[in-house]
Amino acid sequence: MPLTENLNSTLTHNFSAGPAKLPREVLLEAQRDLLNYGKSGISVMEMSHRSKEFDAIAKKAEADLRELASIPDNYKVLFAQGGATSQFSMVPLNLGASGKAAYLDTGFWSKKAIAEAQRYLDLQILTSSKENNYTTVAPESAWHAASSENSYLHYTANETIHGVEFPYVPQTQLPLICDMSSNFLARPLDISKYALIYAGAQKNLGPAGVTLVIVRDDFLGKAREQTPFLYDYKTLADNASMANTPPTFAWYICGLVFQWLKINGGLSGMESRNKEKAELLYKTLDSSILFENKVDKQYRSIMNVPFHLRQANEQLEKTFLMEAKKAGLIGLAGHRATGGMRASLYNAVTLADTKALCDFIENFELQNK
Ligand SMILES: *Cc1c(COP(=O)(O)O)cnc(C)c1O
Repeated sequence: MPLTENLNSTLTHNFSAGPAKLPREVLLEAQRDLLNYGKSGISVMEMSHRSKEFDAIAKKAEADLRELASIPDNYKVLFAQGGATSQFSMVPLNLGASGKAAYLDTGFWSKKAIAEAQRYLDLQILTSSKENNYTTVAPESAWHAASSENSYLHYTANETIHGVEFPYVPQTQLPLICDMSSNFLARPLDISKYALIYAGAQKNLGPAGVTLVIVRDDFLGKAREQTPFLYDYKTLADNASMANTPPTFAWYICGLVFQWLKINGGLSGMESRNKEKAELLYKTLDSSILFENKVDKQYRSIMNVPFHLRQANEQLEKTFLMEAKKAGLIGLAGHRATGGMRASLYNAVTLADTKALCDFIENFELQNK
């Protein structure tokens, strides 16, 4: 296999929901480090997680993330494993002391989080948008009042499959827990409003294999008895996320992504880029006679944009996806739970990628009306 740069990939536009596009600059840098990291003489993948080199990689990744997201000193940053799905269990095991918790049911991923937490706790569902096919969220004033007996309130900031994103942080007296898997670092945020935030890396942060957890100090050490050793946040915090072998390569790539974010305008830079991309695609869909996005405008995600044919036509959908792929537009099939199409516009997706998609949609429409 020749080690030359794959020139084709510059012509490919990747809209995959996850694992998803990484910044090209990051991949090129990783390619350089792959055979010989610094002066180590070995690959970054081949070195001990206890080595001086890896220790520096790990520490820099955390420091850059703390700077980017303005993470206060009384919060720990954990590089966990097991995906966001493990957090569906870890959150109730660690933070559910009262046996009760409040959840918002806003789509596929909150449903999954609820199903898992129900195995351990009595849940109060404050609002559910199931009857609206998860295309909106009821206003906070219409939610059930949360009982103060709940140990926490959990919500999903961005529903990756339904394309529904909270434009605000819910008001609550309870410790707030958030699944930010698909929109963490897409825009500035105020960490101090949360007790705990988690995010699987493979959407907006890096490759699959690492899951970021940001947790306030005073929520450590509260896991229920018989919580598995690795599922106790305190284990991870006490061992600098190295209680066992961490996913070193994924951690390293996340570190490169954080550096890339810093030199590309930080989180406010990302926010303006992300908004520009999303507005362009929504504008194209809203003026389309073939396609539509059904999400309440107020809750439209700037990261994941599902769209459907206005009139169901399985054959035409297949043709669209096939021709898109031929044109280098990849990863546009909707999730198997919802069908249709979906474009994910994570930080690494460029305005040029988005324009290519909008042009393709407009041309497809001209040929198929
Ligand atoms: C992808 C995703 C998950 C699940 O992530 P895994 O890494 O597959 O466990 C959970 N929540 C949200 C919001 C997601 O987008």
